[in-house]
Amino acid sequence: MVDAKRAVKKAARKIKKAGRQLAQKTEEAVDEAVGKVKKEIPKVRRTVGESIEEVGRSIKEDSEYRGGDKKPGDLGLYEATCSKCGSKFKTAYEPISGLSIYCKNCSSEPMPGRH
Ligand SMILES: [Zn+2]
Repeated sequence: MVDAKRAVKKAARKIKKAGRQLAQKTEEAVDEAVGKVKKEIPKVRRTVGESIEEVGRSIKEDSEYRGGDKKPGDLGLYEATCSKCGSKFKTAYEPISGLSIYCKNCSSEPMPGRH
């Protein structure tokens, strides 16, 4: 049984060595990855900075833009007919056929028979 013991010891040594090598390789890989990321940071920073600047510019341009036919707060995009009083009104949501829709006056009233 001496041979078996020796074989086990040998195998254990091999496993230990492989483990060390693996750990070293992992460390190297991590170091390399970290190095790559570190190298990318200034580039990313620059890109992000440029995007932020661009967004800021477009917001400024948007706020300066006054020539459109859509005014802020003008959400009346769809024509709807009130299911209760039959009056036409504008709504920001597309009316779904078959579904009741109420004008501002009727929707603020309490629903009849729902208590
Ligand atoms: Zn109504």
